Amino acid sequence: MGTHYDCDVLVIGSGAGGAPTAAILAEAGFDVLVVEEGPWIEQGEVRPFSLEQMDRQYRNGGLTVALGRPSIAYTEGRCAGGGTEVNSGLYRRPSEQTLDRWRAGWGIRDFDTEQFMTLCDEVEQALSVQTVPGRHTPASERLRAGAAALGWDHDEIPRWMSYPQDGDATEGRRESMTRTYLPRARDAGARIVPDTRVDRLVIDRGRALRAELTGASGEPATVDFGQVVVCAGAIHTPALLQRSGLRGLIGRRLAVHPTVKLAARFDDQVNVGDDVPVHQVKEFAPDLSFGGSASQPGLVALALTDAWPTMRDAITAWPEIAVYYAAITSEGRGRVQALPGFRDPLVTYRLTRRDRAVLARGLARLTQVMLAAGAREVYPSFRHAPIVRTRGDVADLSDRFRTEAASVMTVHLCSTVPMGDDTTIAAADSHGKVHGTANVYVNDASLLPDAPGVNPQASVMAVALRNARRFAEAVER
Ligand SMILES: Cc1cc2nc3c(=O)[nH]c(=O)nc-3n(C[C@H](O)[C@H](O)[C@H](O)COP(=O)(O)OP(=O)(O)OC[C@H]3O[C@@H](n4cnc5c(N)ncnc54)[C@H](O)[C@@H]3O)c2cc1C
Repeated sequence: MGTHYDCDVLVIGSGAGGAPTAAILAEAGFDVLVVEEGPWIEQGEVRPFSLEQMDRQYRNGGLTVALGRPSIAYTEGRCAGGGTEVNSGLYRRPSEQTLDRWRAGWGIRDFDTEQFMTLCDEVEQALSVQTVPGRHTPASERLRAGAAALGWDHDEIPRWMSYPQDGDATEGRRESMTRTYLPRARDAGARIVPDTRVDRLVIDRGRALRAELTGASGEPATVDFGQVVVCAGAIHTPALLQRSGLRGLIGRRLAVHPTVKLAARFDDQVNVGDDVPVHQVKEFAPDLSFGGSASQPGLVALALTDAWPTMRDAITAWPEIAVYYAAITSEGRGRVQALPGFRDPLVTYRLTRRDRAVLARGLARLTQVMLAAGAREVYPSFRHAPIVRTRGDVADLSDRFRTEAASVMTVHLCSTVPMGDDTTIAAADSHGKVHGTANVYVNDASLLPDAPGVNPQASVMAVALRNARRFAEAVER
């Protein structure tokens, strides 16, 4: 019934974890099949950061939420290349302290910092990670100027972009997975099947035997394989494993970087709809980082809706407005639970008292940066927020801020199948094999033991390369 595939290795998902996994394993001689739920869309076919992109390349049009007080809106890519196709491309290596914490806290074997940094070098080379050769966007420039005026530590984050010689920020071309590791995988013989979802793995006494799939029009298919590597992202990897009967520690320690936003209006045009700022303020890192968000007119409107009666007049001035964020490292944790009969899992997240305090502090300090950058008005994203025009108004903002009333969101999700040999806290071993299974591996953001405190894609990719190479050495073809 339906299409049937056979392969040595089934890779589920083709994002920052799945694409390098497929390339390394195919190049090592394995017969690899990649199954990706979303469509294959070439870079440039859809305008970056547009509502059309949210519709075509995001899961559920970008409307997904982790329930809690407050609930946290999160977004995920759902297309060939996963999050790498739609994200901001901002590249940061994890710090040595983060790697030390992961190694010691979760008992990760063979996790050498120097080797890890060599893998980061490899990622940087493969994705052309670089700073902007020419001019920055005005919104990025404002963030830099605000931090400089306050004497706060800030820098430009390199991105996985290629530019024409001396090209400006908006001339970059994103070096996502559909332009890098997926073509590499295909050239080495991997088959890539988009528009097809893996519903469930059939597992017998710890050994996965078969995957059950559904195509875009609802047609069923199956795959028989020797090994399976689940790379469906930090929400859908644990959900798929749970649907397949694996539970234990899976899905219990979701980690995110919760983020609050504001919109800032300047006296001249700063809005660039299809790019994001590349500067980040690190004065309060790792607890707090400030940066710039996508600022399409629709997203500016969204940023103003929390206090629409007070702020709606500003929408006509959207060319003078850009959106910025304050992201925190969180002590809180969340859960992912597959529910029988539902397509998407139940996701919950609990912020701690300290997280709430850091979010409040973050929004106030980000507002200060905007005022120092020359913003005429600042519109913080929480219900009944005041418009801030002077430094004196910042105290009023802090008085009125309530985390429950804030539009908290995140795009950094990880740690739902943490790796390590300590089986009391890790759900997969030091190289990603799910504890208690013979041939079920994970190789995506789910493996990061906790949130890295920086943009995570570099960490996800370096871990994926490490584990895929180890797999190629250890597993018979
Ligand atoms: C809007 C946005 C902006 C971001 N900005 C940055 C940034 O600037 N810098 C940075 O470092 N990180 C950024 N990130 C985060 C980064 O994209 C992720 O950390 C990274 O993509 C995670 O990789 P992954 O392989 O775990 O998951 P993904 O890249 O999300 O890939 C998972 C893939 O699995 C597929 N899938 C899921 N379930 C199934 C199933 N059942 N069957 C088949 N396929 C399935 C999905 O469709 C998806 O393509 C951003 C993310 C978003 C959404």
